[in-house]
Amino acid sequence: MMQYESPPIRPPSESRSLLVRATRYCPWGRCIFCYGVLWDYRKLELRQVEDIKRDILAMKSHADMIRRWAADNNAEDRIEQLAIRNNVLWLSNEGVKTAFIGDSDSLVMKVDDLVEVIEFMYKTFPTLERVTSYARAKTALKKTPESLKRLHEAGLSRLHLGLETGDDQVLKFIDKGVTSAEMIEAGRRIRESGISLSEYVLLGIGGQQWWQRHAEGTARVLNAIDPDFIRARTLIAVPGTPLYDKVVSGEFKKLTPAGILKEERLLIDALDVTSEFVSDHVSNYLPLNGKLPEAKAHMLQLIDKFMAAPEEVRDSYLQPEELRHP
Ligand code: SF4
Repeated sequence: MMQYESPPIRPPSESRSLLVRATRYCPWGRCIFCYGVLWDYRKLELRQVEDIKRDILAMKSHADMIRRWAADNNAEDRIEQLAIRNNVLWLSNEGVKTAFIGDSDSLVMKVDDLVEVIEFMYKTFPTLERVTSYARAKTALKKTPESLKRLHEAGLSRLHLGLETGDDQVLKFIDKGVTSAEMIEAGRRIRESGISLSEYVLLGIGGQQWWQRHAEGTARVLNAIDPDFIRARTLIAVPGTPLYDKVVSGEFKKLTPAGILKEERLLIDALDVTSEFVSDHVSNYLPLNGKLPEAKAHMLQLIDKFMAAPEEVRDSYLQPEELRHP
């Protein structure tokens, strides 16, 4: 049987990764901007380890079937193409290199269970080089430093955390359920365990009212953590979310695209980190990427140059959010 579940979301950097669904939905489910609420994200479900392993074996069978077909047809140098054609994006000519565990907070699992799943993944796919997952800062804080180290030793390479903002007022407004102090502590603890850390920033989530404190507070938290990656996302108010209702009622006033770039400039300028800054999401306006602090001047220059361009040129790039996708 080659049926297996896949997580509904994953970071863009994991688009070619083996996607393993270890839990379903989110243990929090209250962030007002999160379109996960549309999929009933409030109902966390823990899957049985045996069911997860069955899925992993089913994916292995799928890969073996493609490899066998390639061998029988003298096409071993085209395994990747064949796999993509069969919607198997995670198989390359050299095997499976990267994997992602979903859904939104795998640390909610018992450490023994998560270790068992990760070790089984490496055993089943010996070419694996990286296993990553999403996690909530609050859940990470419930794990001891020893547990996090154990997960790292088992092969958990990276955790993706949604910081969104480092400002406590905005964190409260979006009902993130975590304070900035907890964000800092969780980030530091993950880094100390040896697990690589990717923090996501949500540009525009302070709206017109709090854009400045959002940028400054976020820089403050990121400076205290110094994560391996800072990934920028731009707010899209998706119909069906509580944030969308606040936009419609006028309670939340969104920034204009130019306002978003002004906010991003303030954030980048205030960063004092050694992180890789990444804009790898379709929601972002400018491709601001680079290793900090070296790339800071170039990124700021790019924003300034863009903002100085004639309005009609700028506007042709700054599409309203209705034309972008979450
Ligand atoms: S923690 Fe993440 S998945 Fe859960 S509600 Fe918040 S943004 Fe959505």
